Amino acid sequence: MKTHSERPESNLFYQSRQRRPMLDRAEGIYLYDRDGNAYLDGSSGAMVSNIGHSNPNVLAAMKRQMDKATFGYRLHFENEPAELLATKTASYMPDGMDRVFFVSGGSEAVESCIKLARQYALATGQEKRWKVISRTPSYHGATMGALALTGMNSMTDPFEPMLRMMPKIPAPTCYLDRDNLTLEQRGTRYADILEDRIEQEGPESVLAFIVEPIGGASTGALVPPDTYLPRIREICDKYGILLIYDEVMTGAGRTGKFLGGDHWPTARPDIMALSKGFAAGYAPLGAMVAHRRLVEPVLDSGGFVHGYTYAGNPLACAAGLAVLAEVERQDLVSRAEVMGAKLKAELTGLMDRYPFIGDVRGRGMLLAFELVADRETMEPLPKEMNAFTELVEEAYRRKLIIYARRTRGGVIGDHFLVCPPLIIDQDQVGELMEKLTGALDAFAD
Ligand code: PMP
Repeated sequence: MKTHSERPESNLFYQSRQRRPMLDRAEGIYLYDRDGNAYLDGSSGAMVSNIGHSNPNVLAAMKRQMDKATFGYRLHFENEPAELLATKTASYMPDGMDRVFFVSGGSEAVESCIKLARQYALATGQEKRWKVISRTPSYHGATMGALALTGMNSMTDPFEPMLRMMPKIPAPTCYLDRDNLTLEQRGTRYADILEDRIEQEGPESVLAFIVEPIGGASTGALVPPDTYLPRIREICDKYGILLIYDEVMTGAGRTGKFLGGDHWPTARPDIMALSKGFAAGYAPLGAMVAHRRLVEPVLDSGGFVHGYTYAGNPLACAAGLAVLAEVERQDLVSRAEVMGAKLKAELTGLMDRYPFIGDVRGRGMLLAFELVADRETMEPLPKEMNAFTELVEEAYRRKLIIYARRTRGGVIGDHFLVCPPLIIDQDQVGELMEKLTGALDAFAD
């Protein structure tokens, strides 16, 4: 068996030449490399492995389906796992949001939302509507449509001429604001920017607004003020604009409610994208969920012009069904709330010890902390310090995996997502904090 350093040059490539240990197996909240080292999955991969790794019930359900059929093309066969998963998914949704379209990941789910919105507009005589307003910072996916909505220059710049850029408004980064407004007032003020933008674009040309109800990788678990999304809903209604929630990261229990949007029940979306925790890493799976009011006219007027070969794959859907059964059996949504609050308290405690932690935020088990040069002004650490990579590497050395990004509210900053699987127990929280503290001590030196 070759060790990490002895491995030959690879034919495989991703973002960079950086090499990582070879994954051997994974169980619970740990991943093991081929040398037998255990790594604590401090960010559930990329906020994916909500129910932990190698859950025996999910594996058994997948094996049962594997023995029957792994693929049936959706235009040739319906399949029971897809049917059952659609029904199950609809059961978590607000009234009327009961039409489900399966895909293989988050970007595909977002693409599907845009395409449904546009085809709904066409089916209802609103052909002038095509602009989808989104926010900066935001992340909606890597495919060209989803990327066009993404407010993150580091991702979009290389393709700028190829993306027909959609209008962007700032996301509320209230923790950076230095004014005399209350949080509620700021929430409304940020939402009102949408109205200004709609007016500026010409309301008849605006199709939809897309938002992560709680920010993910782009903002580092930024929770909007309680007034924000309800006001956004009012504005969308006023102008007949569709509201799309990107719940790719926040869905399936991560934030302590089944949906991130469930924290604001008066602000319901028209269309939603789900993925990540939905099949929790057991299969490539995502979904677009839409209100039947949108889907029916599209299907009545010639059909939905869209689709992916692997859509509704029976094996992936069997995995999704089994994952949701585990979320319910283990009551992981409540667990995310309870354990998330404990973990957040521990992270907040770090602020006493490390003056360079400027903010700790998030809901449920979607948590993050941000490193700053000055807590008063929230001035970011100098870019040259490379805090974003350094702290991640220190954590890696201690066999803790955390997800980091360097970007926020138009200002460059370093934030770290601490989002372990929702099954994490109290002792494991202790272990996570011990490793993280070790990494922060080394970073501080
Ligand atoms: N939307 C959000 C909010 C995400 O966090 C992500 C992935 N980080 C995506 C969309 C894209 O998902 P995927 O990488 O599965 O295509």
